Amino acid sequence: MPRRRIDGGATQSSGRGANVVTVFVERQWSTVGHIMIEPPLSIESLQAHAASELNQWTGSVARWSAVAPGRVNVIGEHTDYNGGWVLPMAIDRYTVLAAAPGLQADRIRVRSLSLGEQSAVSLSRLSDLSDDQWMRYLQGVLAEYAHRAVVCPPLDIVVASSVPVGGGLSSSAALELAMAHLIEAVTETTWSPSERIRAAVSAERDGAGVPCGIMDQTIVEQGEQGCVLLLDCAQDLISSTIPCDDPQIAWLVIHSGVSHDLADGAYAQRRAECERICEALQVGSLRDVTPEMITTLTPALPTEPPAPSPEPRPEPPPEPSPAQSSTPLPLPGSLDEVLLRRARHVVTENQRVLAATEALKTGNWSILGDLLHESHHSLRDDYQVSCEELDILVELAQAQDDVFGARMTGGGFGGCIVALVNREALSSVATSISEGYAQQVGLSPKCYRVKPASGADICAVSL
Ligand code: ADP
Ligand code: MG
Repeated sequence: MPRRRIDGGATQSSGRGANVVTVFVERQWSTVGHIMIEPPLSIESLQAHAASELNQWTGSVARWSAVAPGRVNVIGEHTDYNGGWVLPMAIDRYTVLAAAPGLQADRIRVRSLSLGEQSAVSLSRLSDLSDDQWMRYLQGVLAEYAHRAVVCPPLDIVVASSVPVGGGLSSSAALELAMAHLIEAVTETTWSPSERIRAAVSAERDGAGVPCGIMDQTIVEQGEQGCVLLLDCAQDLISSTIPCDDPQIAWLVIHSGVSHDLADGAYAQRRAECERICEALQVGSLRDVTPEMITTLTPALPTEPPAPSPEPRPEPPPEPSPAQSSTPLPLPGSLDEVLLRRARHVVTENQRVLAATEALKTGNWSILGDLLHESHHSLRDDYQVSCEELDILVELAQAQDDVFGARMTGGGFGGCIVALVNREALSSVATSISEGYAQQVGLSPKCYRVKPASGADICAVSL
């Protein structure tokens, strides 16, 4: 079935700067000066919305439902695919699926209320990738279950979500894991969390074609209410569960409202750069590079990037990059300055994640805040995955007395920042940052207070 636009948000290009920028415009969000912390929608209300849309669309009553949260990564960016550490939490923003027996033979039909689109795949041809990119995430999960003889009957499904789509809060893993639980509810099957995580990671890699790490699917499946999780990505396991329920603090996520077109290419480029570093240093992964090795290798590297740009920070072009033209250093093998900076980010970020875990455990918010800030600088200057809008948001946040620290979160080049804020001042902090951002960038950012939440699950349906 061809996809059909039914309602919802729109995108437009801002045309600013050297990079292609997509500005997300949503109805309630387009007015500069209209400031709020978006209240979270409950799982029940999302489910009721999805079920009612399903009923209007097909006349059927929802028989099955599943839910999965988004996530925010507190610290540990671009460390997951380097066998490192990450410190994410599942958040109280959810993707909910409501489903009924399908009205068309051999079809899984899906309507996404977030996108205002509808799509369908054939159950007998699951390996034929859908023309609709978003459908591929669901199709990938269906295919993973089908490979192990867990085959769904025809279904009609509605997706309702309070996770911003493409904003760095892992709406994609939420969609995949909600689908995994839905398939299990429909087929009366139970897989282990690690089997579900593997299926979701494969769906994202092979179905959607995104070479992701394991962090998103792991935290979305295994998040715990009120807790932040330390994940060891070398071993695919949760190495620590840290309660984070101090009423003195709050987590504020602010969506910049932009996404730069650099993101996909830059992600693949960073991964390739990390592989080149490992080859040159003859290590299995950057996890094996010690802080001492980095100090020895980078004594002459300035903290600031070599060629600051007045434009929105561009992705360094493919070889040779501008950074490589600065002072030659005595480097091992083929390691140039750019690669050393990438390595320094990953190695120091791993150290920061472990230090942040201790700060969380002891409730040392000012140390945790400093680590967030250092992480942002490292992502901006060494890994070079930030952008002007994220830097502005982080600087506005850092200028607030009631912010302990802030950093970009997610892959970069747009999306969100996360700030650790004095709970009492949450509202005024969100207002000040939003006003400053509106003045400098011309957009009102969306602000979310997020709380650590439980992972994906089946939802009871009231018939
Ligand atoms: P993030 O996971 O950080 O939100 P990604 O780019 O990894 O960003 O994934 C976003 C993509 O996932 C969307 O472009 C879309 O294809 C798919 N997706 C996520 N949530 C939904 C949804 N509620 N409805 C339809 N597609 C979705
Ligand atoms: Mg994603």
